[in-house]
Parts: sequence; C-alpha cells; structure tokens
Amino acid sequence: MSNKWVYSFSKERTEGNRSMKELLGGKGANLAEMCALGLPVPPGFTVTTEACIDYQKSNQINEDAKSQIITALKEVEKITGKTFGGGENPLLFSVRSGARASMPGMMDTVLNLGLNDETVLSLAKKSGNERFAWDSYRRFIQMYANVVMNFNISILESTLEDLKEARNVHLDTDLTADDFKQLVQVYKQIIANESGQSFPTDPMEQLWKAITAVFGSWMNPRAIKYRELNNIPSDWGTAVNVQAMVFGNMGDDCATGVCFTRDPSTGDKRFFGEYLVNAQGEDVVAGIRTPGPINTSSKNDSNRNEKTLEEYMPKAFAELTDLYQKLEKHYKDMQDIEFTIEGNVLYLLQTRNGKRTAQAALKIAVDLESEKIVTREEALMQLDPEVLNQLLHPRLDPNVKKKVITKGLPASPGAGSGMIVFNSEKAHALNETGHKVILVRQETSPEDIAGMAASKAILTARGGMTSHAAVVARGMGKPCVAGCSSITVDYVKNEMRVDGRTFKEGDWITIEGATGEVIEGEVPTLDAEISAEFATFMSWADEVRRLKVRSNADNPEDAKTSIKFGAQGIGLCRTEHMFFEAERILAVREMIFAEHTEQREKALVKLLPFQRKDFIGIFKEMDGLPVNIRLLDPPLHEFLPHTDEDKKELAEYLDVEVKTVEEIGERLHEFNPMLGHRGCRLGITFPEIYRMQVRAIIEAAIESKKAGVTVIPEIMIPLVAIDSELAILREILEKDIKQIFKDAGEEIKYKLGTMIELPRAAITAAEIAKHADFFSFGTNDLTQTTFGLSRDDAGKFLTDYISKSVVPNDPFVSLDQSGVGFLVDFACKEGRRIKSDISLGICGEHGGEPKSIDFCHRTGLDYVSCSPYRVPIARLAAAQAVIRNK
Ligand code: PEP
Ligand code: MG
Repeated sequence: MSNKWVYSFSKERTEGNRSMKELLGGKGANLAEMCALGLPVPPGFTVTTEACIDYQKSNQINEDAKSQIITALKEVEKITGKTFGGGENPLLFSVRSGARASMPGMMDTVLNLGLNDETVLSLAKKSGNERFAWDSYRRFIQMYANVVMNFNISILESTLEDLKEARNVHLDTDLTADDFKQLVQVYKQIIANESGQSFPTDPMEQLWKAITAVFGSWMNPRAIKYRELNNIPSDWGTAVNVQAMVFGNMGDDCATGVCFTRDPSTGDKRFFGEYLVNAQGEDVVAGIRTPGPINTSSKNDSNRNEKTLEEYMPKAFAELTDLYQKLEKHYKDMQDIEFTIEGNVLYLLQTRNGKRTAQAALKIAVDLESEKIVTREEALMQLDPEVLNQLLHPRLDPNVKKKVITKGLPASPGAGSGMIVFNSEKAHALNETGHKVILVRQETSPEDIAGMAASKAILTARGGMTSHAAVVARGMGKPCVAGCSSITVDYVKNEMRVDGRTFKEGDWITIEGATGEVIEGEVPTLDAEISAEFATFMSWADEVRRLKVRSNADNPEDAKTSIKFGAQGIGLCRTEHMFFEAERILAVREMIFAEHTEQREKALVKLLPFQRKDFIGIFKEMDGLPVNIRLLDPPLHEFLPHTDEDKKELAEYLDVEVKTVEEIGERLHEFNPMLGHRGCRLGITFPEIYRMQVRAIIEAAIESKKAGVTVIPEIMIPLVAIDSELAILREILEKDIKQIFKDAGEEIKYKLGTMIELPRAAITAAEIAKHADFFSFGTNDLTQTTFGLSRDDAGKFLTDYISKSVVPNDPFVSLDQSGVGFLVDFACKEGRRIKSDISLGICGEHGGEPKSIDFCHRTGLDYVSCSPYRVPIARLAAAQAVIRNK
C-alpha cells in the first residue's frame, strides 16, 4: 500500500484528529479536531510532515503525494461548489506551514492563492464586488512574492503608499477598484523587472510552488536558528495546510475578528474580543483601523463608540457565543479564537489555548474546576509551576515604557530600582541612610551578604544560575540578573561600561530578574498580591503531593517567609552567612588567625552566644518543624579581610602588624577552594569550630524547648568524601552532646547526617550511610564536581574545559538529564540498602526546579528544599509529579 501523504478536513469528512500532531503538525491536527467536532471550519487538507521529510531528500514533492493532493483538492471543490483555477465561482486557498511545535516566523501565510487575471474577473462577478476582487488580487501578489518568491516587497509597499498619496487618501479602504487594478499591473511589472521572473499565472503552478516553499522554509536559517534555541529536532519537518478561503472583506455583511473565552489578563469569566467589518484577518492586528468590540463587555476607551458585533450581526454573534462555550468545554481551557464572517455566515479559522498572565492562569484554573470543566488534577496540570514566580514578586508596571540597556541571566525574579553601587559596605551604608541601591559586582562572595541584603536588586557580570549571587538572591527573594557578560565592572573608576556607554556610581538603573533585563533609570513597580485563588490552588497541590517541601533559610526572617509560602521545615541553614555580620566578623577572624587551639577556643567562645541566639530565633519560627543546620562549609580564606581598612582594623584588634595579617592571609590561600581544607576536613583539623556550633545548636534547642517550642534539629556535616570523616566527627560531637544533655538535665531528639555533594560520597554512600541519619544532596557542588553536564555533553565539555581552561558558567541541567541525577539515584539506593529508614532530601538549587522535582519524586526522596520564594513552585511541581507519574 502506498503511503498516505495527505489528510482531508471538513465538516463533511475528516481524517485526522488532535492526537496526530507529529504527522499533521499542530495547526493541521487542530483543524482536523475542529472539523471532527462539527464546527464551521472552511474545508481543506493537510500535507504531512512526512511529505516534508521526503521532500528534503529529493527537493521535489513525490508523484504519489502530488496525486493525493489533487484528489483532496477535488474534494474541496465539491464541498464548496467552487472551482480552483477557473469557472464562474473560483476557489481560492490559504497555504500555511504548521510544525509539530509552533515555530513563529518560520513561514508566513499565503492567502488568496489561485487568483490570476481571469479568476479575478470571475471573483468580481460572483461577489458583485469588483473592488474586493482586485484588492484580494494585489494582496495575493504581494504575499506570494514575499513568501514564495523571496522578493523584497518594500518596493511594492512604497508603490501602494505613493498611490495613496497621489489619490490623497489615508486608508487602503479608500482606494477604488480601478486603483487596485492599476496596482496589480504595476506590481507584476516591478516583480518581473527586479527578479527576472514573471509572476505565475497558472493556479496549479502557484500551489505547487507555495507547498514547495513551505517545505523549503523548514531549512531556512531563521527556522534552523529557532530550532536550535528551542531544542526542536530538525527531522520533525513541517506540514502544509491548504484551506479554502473565506472572505471577511467581501462587503458590509462580512467581518473578521479575534476573541477570547475569558479575559487573558485578569482571568475573569467574560467573553470578549474585537472585530472589523469588511476586512481580512491581518487588518485586525495591523492596527490601521480601530476594531470594534464584539459585545458590550469588550468596550474600552478607544472603541466605546463603535457598534458591537452583537448589535451589528446578531445571528453570527449568537452562533459564536454558542461555539465558544462548546470549544472551552472540549479543549478544557480558555480559548483564543479567530473567526471570519462571509455573507453573514460564521466560520472559525483557528482556536487555541490562549496565552495569559500569571494571575489569569491561576484564576482560570480555579474557575474551570469550580465550573466542572476540568477536574482538580487537570487544573493542577494547567499551570507551569514557574508561573507562580510572577505572582510572588513585585513586577514592573507594564504601562510604563522602559529603555533596556542590556540583558543577562534571569537569576532571581522580581523587579527593583536603585542607584548603582559597586561595593557592599557602601550599599549597606547608603541603605542605612534611606537610599535605594543596586549592588553591581563582577561576582559576589559570602562577604557581600550584608550588601546584598541592603540592595533592592543585584547585578553581576560573571556567574551563572547557581552562582553565589543567584543562589543568595533567590533565597532573599531579591531580583538578580547574573552573568551579564556585556558589562565591564571597573572597581577602580567606580563605573560599569556596556556597549560603549558608561554608568557611574549613583546612576539609577532597574533590574527585571524574571527576564534578565537591565533597564535605564527608575521604572515603577507593582506589588505582588496573594489572592484567594492562590490559597485554594495551593491547597489542592498539597493534598496531592507526596514529597515534602522545605526551604533553604539562614535566619529567622527567611524562616518566616518560608512558613508564609508553605515550607514544612528548613532543609539547609548555611551557618557561614551568620559569620559575616558586622559584630561577629572580628571574632571569626580572630579564630582564623589563632596560632593554637586555646587561642582559637577563646575566639569561639565569643561566637557561641551569637550562634545560639541565631538558632533560637530560627527554632521559634519553625516551631514543630525540622530544622537542618549545616556546620561551617567554606574554606577560611573566604572570611579574610580584603580592604586595607579592614586589614588595619583586624591588626589593631589582634595587636599585630598589618604585615602579619597579610602573611597569614597568604598562608590560608586555597589552591583548590572546592576540595581543599574546608567543610568536614576543616572540622577534623580544628574540631573546636564544629564543637562550638553543635553546642550552640543543642543549647538553643534545649532553651527553646523549655520555652515551649517544639524543636526538631538536624545537624549536617558538609563535604564528606570518605565515610571515616563522618565517623570521626560523629564520635567527637556526640560525646559533647551527651555532656550537654547531662549538664542541662534535659534531652532532645536530634538527627546527625551529611550532605552528599561530592561524587566520591555518592559512590560510597553505602559506607557513609552507616554513620548518617540522613543524606541531603548538595547538587550545586555535585554539579560542579561532575562538570554539571548531561552525559552526552560531558566529553565535549571536557575538551573545551581543558583547551580554554575555563570554569563552566554553572550550566543548569535538570537531574533527569544529568550525571548528577545518576549519582543521586545511586546514592539513594545504596543508602536505603544499608539503612532502610534513612531520611533523604535535596538542598541544592535543583530542589526548586520542576523537572528535577519530578525526578526527586520518582527517585523516592523524602523532601526537596529550595529558596523560600520557590517553595510554592516546588509544592506545585511535587503535586504534578504525582499526577504525571501515576
Ligand atoms: C550544594 O552544594 O548543593 C549546597 C547546597 O551547598 P552550597 O551551595 O552551600 O555549596
Ligand atoms: Mg555545597
């Protein structure tokens, strides 16, 4: 049997349906579905994506496909009672591309195909509207020349403008039939002169060339680039949809328009849209004439005085009203519908799930559920979890014009404006005196915490989506644009340069963290509002999900935010951030510069009350929920003073020379800051540091318990590579804990476990599990230590890495696609094999990323932990994981 290359669609007979996107493309499958529903869709046929792939091999449409096209064409002639290429009632076609995934701008549409010097006369006669016929013809020539012949049509456009000027009119609609007749002749002449080809007069030739052009457009540079950017395989091909034309521009009983079944900006349940009498589809979007409202609820300031479609064509409007409700029920979502009315008869040209704002998406999902159009689970699946992001952060006022300076990575959403400041101390000082600032850094380090906290937003020139700036900003809920490589930050001149422009300290900029835009000056923002729908929707997610969701929070304030967003505990409290506060950093540095244990202990005693207070504050906020506290993680050199001022202050405090401070600083320099003397290894050489931290945790827990707070502390040892590291520390720390219990005459339940954040730890998880009550996967370090790439890319990356000796820009690959995911899965299995009740969680950035959350669900983790502001996203993603994997 020969291959089927062509599928017909019409109210009368339809061969495809919506599930056939791969073969018919999105548009083709949808047209088939609409016809199968009995909707008034103009008949036509779809030439399959397989025919496109076949075309790519030989650069021609195969004979088999050609004959199927002709058969399908005859069927359309029969249904419409019109003839293609001649006769009294000429059939015209629209020809459009339609790939499996929508690829805007790949190939434009050709309308009115089939017109020539003869058919135009029949059309004029049949329609009784000469002007309409010639207008359609000149439009066709222009589109065909552009799309099929690749002709630069600006010259045709200016000819039209010249003609309007000569006739002293503004609108195309003011031109007469004779004007268009003249224009057609001039167009054909120009095309012949400029391109050396005459415009094809045979409608069949027009059709073959148009189909060929669509197939060819699959390989045009624009389409290739688009596929590259959107991960669309090049062997999908595009389908071609050939459909009978209906005319909204044949006279005053004709119209064309667009409508939405609900309000796409608020989500309100109101049918609304716009239409134009005597016009073709593109006129509505072109903005030359002001479209009228389809009904009273679509009236606004600019169209208030226009007649509604409801008043003007009540019959067609009533039909449209009936159809939109059917469509919404069928597609179970808000629809964006294109329609045309020809001689008072309504046709639907397209329906699709309408684009909408985040607020609208939420409201529509909740409303559709209460109207019983979708089930609760379907409603939960309707929202992309990332959309919730927009609901929780301030956003730019969309009504204000903005001047974009440059773009970086959208590292943390939200919008903020302020004066540029290049160092953290200054940011802090200016904030104290009531100024709004934006911290601009080459990249940030833990030292910048206070400066970041004092800023409205953060901008960095280097670093990726898991860079320090990105991670911390997300945690703080501050807008951040990271890795903005077009910017040069000059700390000496206190300025940043971008594309030949210079911005000085004190200049105002605005950061839009959801898009990565850096904008000139101050742009007003609108506050986020948490609606009743949000609460309802999130409660549905909570009923469905299995994974618990915790947050990464380092202080009581973040803990409070986490609770507000529904966190069920803290999955990571990074204690090093507590060390940077002004009144503590000197004691921290004193500890680092200590020559021997006793001296170190003396400094640590000063830190103990601070840490204890930190933990009491956090336990109080998290009453009844687990709090996972990580002991010191970074290498000591991160705490060293950098500015001359700080070095001098420290020298005075320690009563030594500045030179000594510098010498010791150099000694502490880490050659391998990722794997060197830090985390548990630092904890083993200087156990007094971890002992102080554990004392602070346990004493804080006891004190909180006495105050009536339910405490569930978890003590986490970072950067374990070898099981013995954990065994040694566990023994030292548990001895202390016992003693503290004894001294206090009070005990509390706690867990002691480790991060799995080095490949060696993941591989030897079975050994490590013997000493751990829990594992928490540190996928940030795992990403960096496995070079963070998908398995396929790892080899290529390694070559680049060695040849350019560059550190990767934190490539973010979901766990289900990466070597990191493999390690997590392996370590979970090994951990559980040894200890069936070991608690498993994740606290790296993947814990807030929907695809990775799906992976964590499938892998059987107990919880994910992410920035407070991502908690709702994780809750929804965890619910969707359950539904998806049922
Ligand atoms: C990690 O490595 O994934 C982690 C959470 O720790 P940090 O980001 O602090 O290194
Ligand atoms: Mg880590």
